[in-house]
Amino acid sequence: MNDCLFCKIARGDIPVKVLAFNEHALAFPDLRPVAPTHALVIPRAHFASLGDLTDFDVLGAMHALAVQVARDTGILQSGFRTVINSGPDAGQTVFHLHLHVLGGRPMEWPPG
Ligand code: 5GP
Ligand code: ZN
Repeated sequence: MNDCLFCKIARGDIPVKVLAFNEHALAFPDLRPVAPTHALVIPRAHFASLGDLTDFDVLGAMHALAVQVARDTGILQSGFRTVINSGPDAGQTVFHLHLHVLGGRPMEWPPG
């Protein structure tokens, strides 16, 4: 998807601070962090949302990076949350699948 923001980031057309990467995915800081650690993990391939994912190995690769980011930012033991907003009701705003990695402060449940 040429005009997709996260495809541009995945291709390196828009520079980001890459926190972790593997064959299927990469992680970088969210532009508007809502927690002391707030990273996004995106697949290199374009899937608009979780419902469009066809290769579920990608999801494992994304979660491996989430754990790596949590470890590297020191929140593995204190706790962290991984969130995929999929579709309008969930609040998805960028329609390239992404996993939020959030931590560094206590969080509430249920989410809003
Ligand atoms: P969503 O609401 O779709 O689950 O999350 C989209 C996330 O992407 C938001 O947290 C937003 O701050 C982040 N975001 C939007 N544009 C950019 C950008 O250009 N760079 C980065 N690093 N994050 C972005
Ligand atoms: Zn894309």
